[in-house]
Amino acid sequence: APEAPSAPTATTCPYCGVGCGVLAQPDRMGGATVAGDPDHPSNFGRLCSKGSALGETLSLDGRLLHPEVDGRRVAWDAALDAVAKGFRQTLETYGPKAIAIYLSGQLLTEDYYAANKLFKGFLGSANVDTNSRLCMSSSVAGHKRAFGSDTVPGTYRDLETADLLVLVGSNAAWCHPVLYQRMLAARASRGTRIMVVDPRRTATAEEADLYLAVRGGSDVALFSGLLVALADSGRIDGAFVAANTHGFEEALARARQIAPNAEATARACGLPAAEVEAFFEAYRTTERVVTLYSQGVNQSTAGVDKVNAILNVHLATGRIGREGMGPFSLTGQPNAMGGREVGGLANQLAAHMGFDVESVEKVRRFWGAPRMARAEGLKAVEMFQAIARGEIRALWVMGTNPAASLPRADAVARALGRLDHFVVSENMASTDTLTAGAKIRLPAAAWGEKDGTVTNSERRISRQRAFLASPGQVRPDWWAIAQVAKRLGHGEAFGWRTVSEVFREHAALSAFENEGTRDFDIGALSGLDTQDYDRLQPIQWPARRGTARAERRFFAQGGFFTPDGRARLVAVERPSAPASEPDLPYRLNTGRIRDQWHTMTRTGKSPRLSSHIAEPFLEIGARDADAERLVDGGFARVSTAHGDAVLRVRVVAGGGDKTLFAPIHWTGETSSNGRVGALVHALFDPISGQPDAKATPARVTPVAFARQ
Ligand code: SF4
Repeated sequence: APEAPSAPTATTCPYCGVGCGVLAQPDRMGGATVAGDPDHPSNFGRLCSKGSALGETLSLDGRLLHPEVDGRRVAWDAALDAVAKGFRQTLETYGPKAIAIYLSGQLLTEDYYAANKLFKGFLGSANVDTNSRLCMSSSVAGHKRAFGSDTVPGTYRDLETADLLVLVGSNAAWCHPVLYQRMLAARASRGTRIMVVDPRRTATAEEADLYLAVRGGSDVALFSGLLVALADSGRIDGAFVAANTHGFEEALARARQIAPNAEATARACGLPAAEVEAFFEAYRTTERVVTLYSQGVNQSTAGVDKVNAILNVHLATGRIGREGMGPFSLTGQPNAMGGREVGGLANQLAAHMGFDVESVEKVRRFWGAPRMARAEGLKAVEMFQAIARGEIRALWVMGTNPAASLPRADAVARALGRLDHFVVSENMASTDTLTAGAKIRLPAAAWGEKDGTVTNSERRISRQRAFLASPGQVRPDWWAIAQVAKRLGHGEAFGWRTVSEVFREHAALSAFENEGTRDFDIGALSGLDTQDYDRLQPIQWPARRGTARAERRFFAQGGFFTPDGRARLVAVERPSAPASEPDLPYRLNTGRIRDQWHTMTRTGKSPRLSSHIAEPFLEIGARDADAERLVDGGFARVSTAHGDAVLRVRVVAGGGDKTLFAPIHWTGETSSNGRVGALVHALFDPISGQPDAKATPARVTPVAFARQ
């Protein structure tokens, strides 16, 4: 890493999927001041509270700075030898299905690429999954069913040129704050209406022009009713549907079964009919509509159908890929998109390719891969269940904390203890996952210490640049993977000397044997030399050779990535009502708060951020709180079939819907510390594998502490 330079370094915020550009000015004492980058097209200088506080989070307190094996500090060579030996022995004894790597939407694209190449191409295992599975995999699957590809059709600019913005299951005011600021600015300047669909009255809902407090899980019914309403009022774009889609009649017929009219929709969604009518009327009378959706849609056992119910509406009205209109998946993590591009999911291969024979062969040829995985691997929840059963015996976890963040986190922690070979690459010296029995601990370079790229929610690739010297013996993750590959006999294929060489290879793969056939490639970037890479300005994909580097929308004139170029409208299923459980009458919803990120390893270092909300809590509506004899500021025990936690009670307006909310950020050795991942059930969408973190059956009881 470079010595502290005198000029600010242009880099990218490491938190959410908005992907804001920041300028970091090292202070020559190991820290830096951080400001928004006025030239970055995702934020134009704006930052939210988390981004603004980045400079307060750079201390080395709690960092893992040296490799460790069996609790002893060792040299990198010894640690890497031990990593390679464990995977070699497991492969020889049990075969490739017994090894896995679990990655993170916090990793840089180059790290993701290296991990994917090693496991899928050279060790023969597609057990390569990521915490992005918990974030956006239902959107990926929904996109692929509808468009034939995982493509976000629009750009952030559409949020500023739309006349109606509808946020579904998205608390953008807290979770995508800078993008939300851009939406509010559009409302102030051109009167854009903002509508929110969410069972929880969030900060975003508070400011909406229309807030629909839908019953949890009823999004499919709402958007099915909307499709019927648009059809019955002549608002279908018949020419677009006829020329560019399949499945409209079947999708509409299914929608009529689910929600035949506004009254039926209102009943299914638990809404006043007048509100549903107002919502439908807004879509009927507004051409420029963007429907944004996030974890309230994705994190569900019916997440993919929810996504497709939304996509159906935009396809049926031809409101896609044109300025100011389209469906828009808001990605949670900073590089979930980059991970998708290089295939960092168990059901993808690389460069957006799947496991069809042709794609497998193409990637094998490009990599010169000796042991190519030819079928999908296990997705996150199933991967850890296979560990619990002893089927996966060697695991490498990189940049994430599954023993806190996965559903049934206590069961995950116990499963990790069964592994024969357990490697963790981490910034921090103490996490739930390290504590669960990691024998080899590799110190990873953190934000500000490493170089690479990330891709945000609008397909924009930005550089993350180092501006701090590397402390201790930390190294970038791609380097550690390449060193292990070398020890396993694959040094030539992993002989990268710089991160720019990794990126060039990734870009070249995206264009390999693709001339004229694919629109994802960034082949234009495969010719960058190291200096060009260092100077790379934010750019959206595709960035094909010979094409202008302009913002690009997809699908206005069709051109979907299906074999016949047509999109598919999907006849969605109505989610079945959850079985009633008298002992567990509530539904526990989990999510983020405004000023913390994931398990707080970085944001927890800023006193300013902790002053917003300082402790874990349980949110409950006033009517339900009264019924349970809970008081604001008191304590309650929330229990599920998987664990329980004692949390401070926050009473909010409303209630009667038997829903609870608890934030995901606090961790600890017991769920009593607010570690709510331990309470969440491990149900997931059967298509995407994305867990349902929004509706775990629960009960709640008051807790009285004796006076001291
Ligand atoms: Fe960082 Fe997201 Fe805030 Fe932008 S909106 S500063 S990317 S956390």
